[in-house]
Amino acid sequence: MRAVVLRTPGQPARIEEVALSAPRDGELLVRIEAAGVCHSDYHYMTGDLTAPLPLVLGHEGAGIVEQVGDGGSGRVQVGDRVALLWRPRCGRCAACIAGNPVLCELGPVQAQSGGLPDGTSRLAQADGGELHHLMGVSCFAERVVVNENAAVVVPDGVPPEVAAIAACAVITGVGAVFHEVTEAAGRPLLVVGAGGVGLSSVMAAALVGAHPIVVADIDPAKLELARELGATHTVDVRQEDLVERVLALTGGAGVPWAIEAIGRAQTLEQSLACVAPGGTLIAVGLGAADAGFSVPLNQLVQRQKRVVGSLYGSSNPHLDLPRIFGLYLAGRLPIDRLLGDRLPLTEFEEAYRRLTSGAVGRGILVP
Ligand SMILES: [Zn+2]
Ligand SMILES: [Zn+2]
Repeated sequence: MRAVVLRTPGQPARIEEVALSAPRDGELLVRIEAAGVCHSDYHYMTGDLTAPLPLVLGHEGAGIVEQVGDGGSGRVQVGDRVALLWRPRCGRCAACIAGNPVLCELGPVQAQSGGLPDGTSRLAQADGGELHHLMGVSCFAERVVVNENAAVVVPDGVPPEVAAIAACAVITGVGAVFHEVTEAAGRPLLVVGAGGVGLSSVMAAALVGAHPIVVADIDPAKLELARELGATHTVDVRQEDLVERVLALTGGAGVPWAIEAIGRAQTLEQSLACVAPGGTLIAVGLGAADAGFSVPLNQLVQRQKRVVGSLYGSSNPHLDLPRIFGLYLAGRLPIDRLLGDRLPLTEFEEAYRRLTSGAVGRGILVP
């Protein structure tokens, strides 16, 4: 089958013919129908984030189950449409038992091995050489083999491209609001960064009744979309000072919650400055592996500000994705508004060129 293979960070990834072996016990073979063009893959392409190489890119995918390995739970059947998850879930470790499978102890095994949660790969190069998965998924390919715990069945009526982005960008942004924000109705919320994740937070903030909803970005077109999705105020940070504007909008108090969906030191520091005493900065953007930002002790201690990280929307994906699909089907979470250009898999380079040049809407690759 054909897949997008990354061999050396900084060098272009290429479409290659690769081999995919059959699903083992508790695994699924899935034919990919749609894959999201997410910034996280770009971090691996540039080398900001590292993983065992060579690997097949893509972690935001949805497709149809074509084969079910032996020894599965029976929860997923041939012919089911599924959305793919990029965090493993063993169901037995302390994090899984506590209902926080995003921190499952198999996460580091999957990441460090470049394999599936058991640490082995179903991928191989055409000449038999080793080839790794990315985040247990690798969906910039015609097919994938994944652990069945990495698949959530998609209900009828949810298109594959919506399912694909729901399982990464959307659950990350929506989950940050559902799980890290409490009693937001009628209280202000700030979202910094209006990409797929940030706009998902905007939709969720509107759903739970946050008001006002302030959104900051450098791109007027993204801010326009943010307004359509529920932002009451937008800040073009190329024209205005974010902190001044947010303090002015909130009578000098600041916001109880700021969601930073970019992953840059400067915007994290500005976001923290926008948070009211006792409020919370929720960091969801990924940066380079060694990136950090500075937190003024005075704000942390004397203003009792909180800084929390939220991976995968602090969600429990097997519970939260069906919830998100239900809200989409009810018209309460217009995920399709986030969709951008649709391109064939062979044009993945063009898709990333558009992403990095600020295209509005989530690109979708179709094998
Ligand atoms: Zn993603
Ligand atoms: Zn676990």
